[in-house]
Amino acid sequence: MIKTAVFPGSFDPITKGHESIVKRALPLFDEVVVAIGMNASKNHFFSLEKRKAWIEQVFASEPKVKVETYEGLTVDFCKTINANYILRGLRTSADFEFERTIAQMNYAMDNGIETVFIVSTPELSAINSTIVRDILRHGGDAIPFVPDGIELT
Ligand code: ADP
Repeated sequence: MIKTAVFPGSFDPITKGHESIVKRALPLFDEVVVAIGMNASKNHFFSLEKRKAWIEQVFASEPKVKVETYEGLTVDFCKTINANYILRGLRTSADFEFERTIAQMNYAMDNGIETVFIVSTPELSAINSTIVRDILRHGGDAIPFVPDGIELT
């Protein structure tokens, strides 16, 4: 059976932290689907089209990575594409507490889907999309925090 992992998130925008988690997951899975969750009640900074195009650009030379968008529950999306794993990154103990409840609820909803965590490397653990957006709102330079080649325009 093909091992497919779904890496769900907003990726508003993709950061070096996200990029690292996907790359480190590649040896573990046959396919990693970066899945942009569409949440109508959430205001996004960048359009869905831009967020998707940037992720595709970052992993253009990596055939095991696919980029999809989805609405609704992550476990339902996993089922539609036959994925048995959800991939998440852990930066801090706050991440752990947040992620723990989501992983436990997802497992309660579907015990055929396991959540797999990768702990961020120390140099990337301070990077998050919220801070990148704040930097951009205030005219700062966020380029060091996003994957090479992403221009954020
Ligand atoms: P969400 O919209 O669910 O907050 P994000 O797009 O911010 O999702 O992040 C998606 C996933 O990437 C989450 O598992 C998050 O913990 C992980 N992640 C984000 N930034 C980093 C980082 N710097 N290092 C490791 N993992 C990260």
